[in-house]
Amino acid sequence: MNQDWDIKPRSDTCHGCEKPFADAEPYFSALVFGDQGYVRADCCETCWQRYRQTVQSPYSTWQGVYRKPPAPEEPLKKETAESLLRQLMEQEDRSKVNVVYILAVMLERKRALVERDVQQREDGTRVRVYEHRKTGETFLIPEPSLQLDQLEEVQQEVVALLGARDDAEAEPVPEPPPPAEPPAESPDNLRDGFYSKQPSTDHG
Ligand SMILES: [Zn+2]
Repeated sequence: MNQDWDIKPRSDTCHGCEKPFADAEPYFSALVFGDQGYVRADCCETCWQRYRQTVQSPYSTWQGVYRKPPAPEEPLKKETAESLLRQLMEQEDRSKVNVVYILAVMLERKRALVERDVQQREDGTRVRVYEHRKTGETFLIPEPSLQLDQLEEVQQEVVALLGARDDAEAEPVPEPPPPAEPPAESPDNLRDGFYSKQPSTDHG
């Protein structure tokens, strides 16, 4: 007996006459235990009068008012530049270094991220230090050596990753800024992961 826990959806049509329920129409339901386990039947008022005579011992009966179900939610949750950036940073996928950088620049243009500093790693990679304007998190974004002829390709990749957006035009992929000036001193605070993101220590 594995019918202890079960969920039975309400039908959208009458069990008897198979007519779709109208919005605000009363319906009558019976939950009957039989050979097939629990079976739920939802009937219109007319059919219920007949149906209830045929059922020996309904497990449960009740009456409700049918409400037309809301339109299904948009199946594709829109990816935002920020959620995509966080996701890619979490994955530590170095093949996405250009995309991550372009996304960070996008968010800087949108004033979601503020550039706080530019650091240089020992291998010479420049790292832009962004702060999330709302959360105070720090985003360390390595600056890729992006040639101008690669740019269009990366921009297309960003657009593709942002997915089936119907407002893609509202968020144009920006040109990246010119390379930042290298810092005077090599920092020693960039030893964490390839990307790292730390809570602000002096925020709030
Ligand atoms: Zn009916």
